[in-house]
Amino acid sequence: MLQLQNNQYTIGGIPALDLCQRYGTPIYVYDTASMQQQYNSLKNAFSGSNTKIKFACKALNNINVLRFFKNIGAGLDTVSIQEVWTGLKAGFLPKDIIYTPNCVSLEEIDLAVQEGVQINIDNISILEQFGHKYGNSVPVCIRINPHVMAGGNINISTGHIDSKFGISIYQMRHLERVIKSENIKVNGLHMHTGSDILDVDVFLRAADILFEVTDHFPDLEFIDFGSGFKVPYKPDDYSTDVNELGSRLTASFKDFCKSYGRDLELWFEPGKYLVSQSGTFMAKVNVIKQTTATVFVGVDSGLNHLIRPMFYNSYHHMVNVSNPDGKPRIYTVVGYICETDTFGWDRKLSEVNEGDIIAFQNAGAYGFTMSSNYNSRFRPAEVLVHEGKDYLIRQRETLDDLLRNQVEIEALT
Ligand SMILES: *Cc1c(COP(=O)(O)O)cnc(C)c1O
Repeated sequence: MLQLQNNQYTIGGIPALDLCQRYGTPIYVYDTASMQQQYNSLKNAFSGSNTKIKFACKALNNINVLRFFKNIGAGLDTVSIQEVWTGLKAGFLPKDIIYTPNCVSLEEIDLAVQEGVQINIDNISILEQFGHKYGNSVPVCIRINPHVMAGGNINISTGHIDSKFGISIYQMRHLERVIKSENIKVNGLHMHTGSDILDVDVFLRAADILFEVTDHFPDLEFIDFGSGFKVPYKPDDYSTDVNELGSRLTASFKDFCKSYGRDLELWFEPGKYLVSQSGTFMAKVNVIKQTTATVFVGVDSGLNHLIRPMFYNSYHHMVNVSNPDGKPRIYTVVGYICETDTFGWDRKLSEVNEGDIIAFQNAGAYGFTMSSNYNSRFRPAEVLVHEGKDYLIRQRETLDDLLRNQVEIEALT
């Protein structure tokens, strides 16, 4: 994560400007020390239970990052067969991968079954077909929608009544019918109520709802509480209090296990919490443009590289890496895409000059993975700082990458 040390911005101990010089801009830089710290804090908060943490790799899918999490003992949460294959390639064992798709075909689920990963199904129609095909030969986890409203933005809230995710808690009777008639073995229950949960009580309320329905499922081995852990985006922002959550959820989980009659595993699948802060996105200032209304800072990037501000109205803290102790002034930071792509209005930055480097913090999660080639721009390079050394982990794209899958037809040459 980006830090100010002796008047110089560094990432994992390496000067941020050196990294821009070495690898060019725009660039994503992640550091494993921050990932390790976040992983440890969750592990410690839930040390009272048999807890498994599965990294949700849709947040950051570079294979080196996956390997780092594997090496420190994490499992993997995947939402597509392609993520499953990437996880296996990274070296995860099938049993450490959970596959939680939404609205996919039975054919795709078949492929995941062939790989031997934990299947998680979130609708009755596919569950019925799955049971018809596999009976009790392939255990399955069921994604329940407890209808607890959570999440910082409607697009990242998944537990509400209008959500497409999960099997409604009000459909228990129907669910039970299908499970019984197809002889399905349910080994886990899952919920994921959304990203950016503001309140520990929300977790606990949803957990209680899940505990209440477990008597329908005698073969449980784990309960997966999903994710939604919030991280601070603004300097004075807060994160989910994992220690409070840990002690309160551990206590209620213990009580639950006692009444269930067996000790189950407690699973989480955080993405943002593990990698958001580890990532810094850096772009160079192309233009400073004074208009009648504001001073725009135009950088060599845009919604093609970091879409969260435009898509979710999310806040990413920015600093001028090139001028750590300049005079603070107010700017509106925008991209170079032919579309309105504003990273932030009225931001206080140390006086900015053309050629300066602007760093966007908290860019490790849903940054690169949501990037695109819009406007035929290359996606950025990725760099990993690990144990004091920096490594290029993804090359910047080239024109060949943009044209790779295009087929030039003879009729038009
Ligand atoms: C996206 C997702 C996660 C991770 O959410 P974060 O807010 O990044 O922690 C976990 N589980 C499932 C099923 C998801 O789709």
